[in-house]
Amino acid sequence: MIQKSFTTKSRYGLVDWDNLGFGRYFSDHMYVSSFDGTSWDNGEIKPYGPMAIEPAMCTLHYGQTIFEGLKAYATVDGGANLFRPDMNAKRLVNSAERLCIPPFDQDLFVDAVRELVRVDKKFIPKGEGQSLYIRPFIFGDGNFLGVHSSNTFKHIIITSPVGSYYAEGLNPVKIKISDEYVRAVRGGLGMAKTAANYAASLYGTEQARKEGYAQVLWLDGVNLEFIDEVGAMNIMFIIGDELITPPLSQGSILPGVTRDTILKLAPEIGLKPVERRLGIEEVLEAQSNGTLREVFGSGTAAVVSPVGVLHYKGRDMVINDGNIGENTQQFYDLITGIYTGKVEDKWGWTIPVFENETVTV
Ligand SMILES: *Cc1c(COP(=O)(O)O)cnc(C)c1O
Repeated sequence: MIQKSFTTKSRYGLVDWDNLGFGRYFSDHMYVSSFDGTSWDNGEIKPYGPMAIEPAMCTLHYGQTIFEGLKAYATVDGGANLFRPDMNAKRLVNSAERLCIPPFDQDLFVDAVRELVRVDKKFIPKGEGQSLYIRPFIFGDGNFLGVHSSNTFKHIIITSPVGSYYAEGLNPVKIKISDEYVRAVRGGLGMAKTAANYAASLYGTEQARKEGYAQVLWLDGVNLEFIDEVGAMNIMFIIGDELITPPLSQGSILPGVTRDTILKLAPEIGLKPVERRLGIEEVLEAQSNGTLREVFGSGTAAVVSPVGVLHYKGRDMVINDGNIGENTQQFYDLITGIYTGKVEDKWGWTIPVFENETVTV
């Protein structure tokens, strides 16, 4: 049983529903579970709000923290769905292992997410491209200096009504391929959803922004030769009739749920899914011989994000004349269709949070 206590003062009125942006508004409640040194408790749902921390809290100093990202989608028949939350549960446990964090029960994870979304279901927006973003995270909350694993941990889940991830919508973005900075290296933390990877990406991304690029595409951290991924998205290349994405085997890439979904859906739109290492030279070659048709990023936040320009070593490669590609659009329509129940879910990926219910605000 997850204990519940409810807020008396809703944050609903603070939300600008026509202008949600991403990650700016938070729902009324949060889920909090504690690990006391021996086991996780079942957690409780309580009002969202500030928490007291000590300056010596170890995560502030040493970054022993992991997170997840998934969404609840309003369906066309008045219910709400989660999409493959078991994949997030599994990835959370894998990230936990890499960061010396005790594993969290995967079924309890999905239950906690569903219960929390039910409690705050009025915060699930219903507009096109909108959803309730769900952010679980676990961190060491021991108070000490000295580099070692914490004995105690907190698992918190918060939710945020969001519009589409990119202010520009599905418009193609300009991306810089960094030939200087790296995000993750072989044997490092790349496969874990952990703060350190994002800290590593900030400086290079800021530099790229100043030059007019929205994001950085990171190359492998050993040779700066093979494509890895974008800061918060996996990357897909359509060359000829192949959909190519880098393999997870190097351990430097985050195993995206959307990545996996796209690989499984590729045959539906006539593409052959291929996971293999892709050198930057091969991309340049495919661009110059005209076989590179489309490039897009994939992730829960944006679903797909078409790439209009790839910049590498002083040179801009324009992809598909800077327009969103036909296949990229097909993936977007298919995936968002499954999310919202517009397209039949033949794969058993959607998990209802609730069926058609009247929501009182
Ligand atoms: C979260 C994330 C992704 C996308 O994963 P999804 O499960 O598809 O949302 C890709 N790369 C990085 C670095 C990420 O943090």
